[in-house]
Amino acid sequence: MSILPAAERPNPYSAYGAHGSVLVLNSGSSSLKYQLVNPVGGEAIAAGTVERIGETGATGIVTHTYAGNKTHRELEVADHGAALKIALGMFDEVGPTLADAGIYAVGHRVVHGGAEFSGPVVVDDDIVDRIEALVPLAPLHNPANVQGIRVARDLLGDVPHVAVFDTAFFQALPAEAYTYAIDRDVAREHDVRRYGFHGTSHQYVTGKVARVLGRRVEDLNTIVLHLGNGASASAVRGGVPIDTSMGLTPLEGLVMGTRSGDVDPAVVFHLARNAGMDIDELDTLLNKRSGVLGLSGVNDFRELHRLVEDGDEDAALAFDVYIHRLRKYVGAYTALLGRVDVIAFTAGVGENDAAVRAAVCADLEALGIAVDDERNAARGAERIISPDWTKTLVMVIPTMEELAIARQSVEAVDGLHPTSAVTSG
Ligand code: ADP
Repeated sequence: MSILPAAERPNPYSAYGAHGSVLVLNSGSSSLKYQLVNPVGGEAIAAGTVERIGETGATGIVTHTYAGNKTHRELEVADHGAALKIALGMFDEVGPTLADAGIYAVGHRVVHGGAEFSGPVVVDDDIVDRIEALVPLAPLHNPANVQGIRVARDLLGDVPHVAVFDTAFFQALPAEAYTYAIDRDVAREHDVRRYGFHGTSHQYVTGKVARVLGRRVEDLNTIVLHLGNGASASAVRGGVPIDTSMGLTPLEGLVMGTRSGDVDPAVVFHLARNAGMDIDELDTLLNKRSGVLGLSGVNDFRELHRLVEDGDEDAALAFDVYIHRLRKYVGAYTALLGRVDVIAFTAGVGENDAAVRAAVCADLEALGIAVDDERNAARGAERIISPDWTKTLVMVIPTMEELAIARQSVEAVDGLHPTSAVTSG
C-alpha cells in the first residue's frame, strides 16, 4: 500500500480539521454525483452532479453548489473520466480548491459487495478486480461504480480511495432471513440469496435514532423505512439487522418509484411465454416501468398527490398499493422484532411526505403505533412525530448517506494508520 500515514501526507490539517475533507463519489450509469464532506462537523462543503454522461445526442448537465451559489453548465460529457475532470474543474473554478479542502480520502458508493464485503475497504488493484467480479450480481450498478473508482484513482492518485458498499450492513442478516427457499445447490453455485441494499442509510439512521434519544443502539429495536425513489425496509434489533426487504438485487420488497417490488416470480414466466418479452425487456419492465410510475404515469410523490387531488383513479390506486405493501412490511417486522421501540422514516418520501407517514401508521393503536397530526405536519430535522402515549416512537430521521460514507472512509483509512477517531453526531 503506497498511502502515506496521515501525518506525512500533504496538508493533513486543512480548514476542516485534522481529517480534512472527504470527496464522496456516487457513479451511476449516466450520472456522477459528488459531495465534499467535512467528516467531523458533518456538513457538505460543496456538492454537484454531472448528468447525461455519454448519452448520444444529449448535452451533459453539470451543477455545482458551493457557499450557497449554484453554478449550472451544459456541455458534452463523453464518459465518466470526462465527468470527473469536469467536476474537478468546477472545484478549481468555483471553489473550494481541493488543495484548500485538504482531501483526506475519496469515498466511493458501491452498490453490490456480494458476500465478501461486510465493511468499507481501502481500494487497491485487487479490490477493484473483486468489485468487478461482482458485476454479474449487479449488472445495472457495479459497472459504473468500477468505472468511477478507476477514473478517480487515475485523477486523484495521491489520496486513499475507499469503497463503501450498500450491502455491507446487511451481511449480518441471519441465514433464515437471507436464504431463499430454492434448490440449495443452484443457489450456492450462483450466489442467489438476499443481500439487501441502502445499508449505509439503514445503519446511519439506526445509529442516529439512538443518538437523538440518548439511548444505546444495543437497547433499541427499530424498523427503518427508507422511502426514496428506491425504497426499502429493515428490522434492526440492537443495531444488528434481522431482515430487510431488498434481495438479490434492489428489485424486491416495497413498491418503489419505478420498481415493482414483490411480485410472484411466475409473472416473469407468464410474460415471457405469452407476451413474447425477452429477459432484458422484463428487466426494464420491472425495474423502470413499474412501481408508482407503472401504475399512475408519474413517480414523484408530489405529482402523485396532485393527480389524486384532481380525481385521478389510477393515481389513487397507486398510492393505496404503495401504502398497503408498506403496512405489510411494518406488520411482518413487528412480528419478527417482538417489541418495536422506533419506526424511523427517511429519504425523499419518508422525510417529506406527511400523508405517506400518516397512512402507514393509521389504525395501529392496538399495536401501540400512532402519528400525531400536528407533529407529523411540522417540518424540521430529526424529530418524533408520535403522540406522547405510544409504546413505539415514530420518528423522521433525515438520512445522510454521503456523510456516513465519508466517516466510514476516514475510519477505513485510519484503520490502516490509526490516528484519532472521528466523532459521530
Ligand atoms: P433517491 O436517492 O432514491 O433518488 P430520494 O431519497 O432523493 O431518492 O427521494 C426522491 C423522491 O422523494 C422523489 O421521487 C419524490 O417522490 C420524493 N419527494 C421529494 N420531495 C418530496 C416532497 N416535498 N413531498 C413528497 N415527496 C417528495
